[in-house]
Amino acid sequence: MIHLGLTGYPLGHSLSPKIHTAALQACGLQGDYSLFPIHPDDKHELKNLLIRIRSGKIKGLNVTIPHKQHVISLLDELTDTAKAIGAVNTIYLQNGKLMGDNTDALGFLVDLKKFLGRRESEIGKSAIVLGAGGSARAVVYALLNDNWNITISARRIEQVQQLASTFTNYELRITNLTDPQPSTLRHGFASQDRAFDLLVNATPIGMTPNIDQSPLPENLSLPQHGFIYDLVYNPRETKLVRGAHSQGLQATTGLGMLIEQAALAFEIWTGCNPSRETMRLSVE
Ligand code: NAP
Repeated sequence: MIHLGLTGYPLGHSLSPKIHTAALQACGLQGDYSLFPIHPDDKHELKNLLIRIRSGKIKGLNVTIPHKQHVISLLDELTDTAKAIGAVNTIYLQNGKLMGDNTDALGFLVDLKKFLGRRESEIGKSAIVLGAGGSARAVVYALLNDNWNITISARRIEQVQQLASTFTNYELRITNLTDPQPSTLRHGFASQDRAFDLLVNATPIGMTPNIDQSPLPENLSLPQHGFIYDLVYNPRETKLVRGAHSQGLQATTGLGMLIEQAALAFEIWTGCNPSRETMRLSVE
């Protein structure tokens, strides 16, 4: 039996048990995937959970908010990716060492490439990322490694500056998202000057239960060349994606990234590369 799981708080609506159970079945493996909700203040419980990985009782653990950064000090080593991003979403034991990795970045990039498809060669490589939290760090890391020019926009400029300071070898433009009609968007992505080819929403705006919210101002007319990637995957079609579709734009939610980052973690734990299609069907 392979015991896998997820820690974070809260975990009520997590799709991960279904996705990983499908992966176990697709790979013909016996096992389970449990939820371990741990309150942000309960560091003791988090330590106890990691002891169960050290002892081999749990083979692999996913980590989500608010613990992606908390766990770092409790691990022995980080992969280069997790180190660069400064957040961990996948934990496992390797040669007696408790390792932390981050599959969000590659999960995002793989799914972004699927989304852009052949059109990628027809567009420029300028992106704006909304938000500067954990997933924005993974997205920025992934895009920088794929040679995109990036602007980061978030409501707390100090958080954006902190994110930008992590990637000192790159030039990142930063802006503030507090304006209800962000000037960056109006004069950049929303204008015809092709300033941004891709907009990535890495904030929770529009996520259930706030499904009537969008990070973009109402009635903002978007340019036809733009691509929109919304990391939010619940609901299946967010207001941002719906609005973009209604203007004829290509837009997607983050379900593909969710599947991909899960599959990459699953492969680290088990050595089996599971069928994405089977995993996706488990949550459709
Ligand atoms: P996070 O670490 O809490 O960061 C969220 C960011 O959004 C922060 O910059 C935060 O600013 C900002 N923000 C939150 N509410 C806002 C609002 N009302 N207006 C403007 N900015 C706001 O969260 P995260 O882990 O990055 O997750 C963000 C979203 O991505 C979530 O919906 C999550 O479910 C989704 N996600 C999807 C995947 C996937 O596989 N598809 C993977 C990871 C995350 P403050 O710090 O000021 O609040």
